[in-house]
Amino acid sequence: MLILISDAFDESLPNVLSKYGEVTDDKGRLNEAEIVLVRSKTKCTKEYIDGAPKLKMIIRGGVGLDNVDQEYAAQKGIIVRNTADASTTAVAEHAFALMITLPNHITRSDQSMRQGQWLKKELKRTELNGKTLGILGLGRIGLALAVRARGFQMRVLGWHPDVNFTDFAEIRSSMDEVLAESDYISLHMPLLESTKGIINKETLSKCKDGAFIINTARGKLVVEEAMVEALRSGKIGGYATDVYYSDPPGQTPLFNAPNTVFTPHIGASTKENMLRIGVVIDRLIGAYVERNK
Ligand code: NAD
Repeated sequence: MLILISDAFDESLPNVLSKYGEVTDDKGRLNEAEIVLVRSKTKCTKEYIDGAPKLKMIIRGGVGLDNVDQEYAAQKGIIVRNTADASTTAVAEHAFALMITLPNHITRSDQSMRQGQWLKKELKRTELNGKTLGILGLGRIGLALAVRARGFQMRVLGWHPDVNFTDFAEIRSSMDEVLAESDYISLHMPLLESTKGIINKETLSKCKDGAFIINTARGKLVVEEAMVEALRSGKIGGYATDVYYSDPPGQTPLFNAPNTVFTPHIGASTKENMLRIGVVIDRLIGAYVERNK
C-alpha cells in the first residue's frame, strides 16, 4: 500500500505510518496512492481524483472539507475522513489571540515602535471585560472560544440553526440579533453554499457601530469589498483574519484597509495539534487496514 502525504504534517508522521506500507511525499506518485493525506493546500477535485485510480481513502488533516469533492469521491467509492476534533483548541486559541490583539493595537504598536514612533497618547485601548462576543457557528471551535471568553468576563451570544441552549452562550433566535448586540463577532461556521458571503454589505450594516470581526473559519464567508468599505467608514472597528479567498491571498484589497490584522492560515498550525492529527490519522489508517484484511 502506498500512502501519499501531500501537504505539511508533523515530521514524525512518515515514520509512524510506515508500519502500514510505503509512505511518500512525492506528489508525482498520486496514480499509485491508496491513501492520500491532505490539509487545505491540496485540492481534491474531480480531476485530482481521476488522476488517482488506486485511491481508496482521502484523509483531511483538519476540519473543513471544502477542498475535497466529497460527492465525486463517494461516487468513486473513496472514503473521505477528517480529524475534526484535533484542531479545536489550536483554532480557538488563535481566534482569541486575534480578538485580544485588535483592541490592544498590538501590531500597530510594534510597527510604530520599530519606526521610532511613540504613540502612547494616540493608541487608546479598550478591554474585553464586560464586552459582548457574538459567535456565529456554535460547533467545536465556537464553543471552545465561548469558554475562553467567559474566562475574560465577556458576555457570549450565539446563533445556531439547531441549537437552543448551551451553558456557554446565550442563544439568540437569529443571526441579525447577534450582529446587533455584539462588540466582537467571531466566525466559526463551515463554508457552504448557504454560508458563502454571509458577511456582506447588508449583514455588516446590521452590526453595532465599531464592532470588531474575527475570522478563523473561511475567507469566502466574507465579501472582501464590503468589509473594506465598512472598515474605511468606521462602521466596523477592525477585522482580524487568518483565512482568505485563496491561500496565499495575493493582492487582497483588505491589505489597504485600516484596522486589520492578518495571519497566514496558521489557526491549526500548533505543534500540539500536528501531533494530535497524527494520532487520529494513525487510528483511521489502522481501522482501514483492519477492515480490509
Ligand atoms: P463544527 O462543525 O464543529 O462547527 C461548525 C458549526 O457551524 C456547526 O455547529 C454548524 O451546525 C454551524 N453552522 C452551519 N451553518 C451555519 C449557519 N449558517 N449559521 C450558523 N451556524 C452554522 O466545526 P469546527 O470544528 O468548529 O470548525 C469550524 C470551521 O472552522 C471549519 O468548518 C473550518 O472551515 C474552520 N477551521 C479553520 C481552521 C484554520 O486553520 N483557521 C482550522 C480548523 C477549522
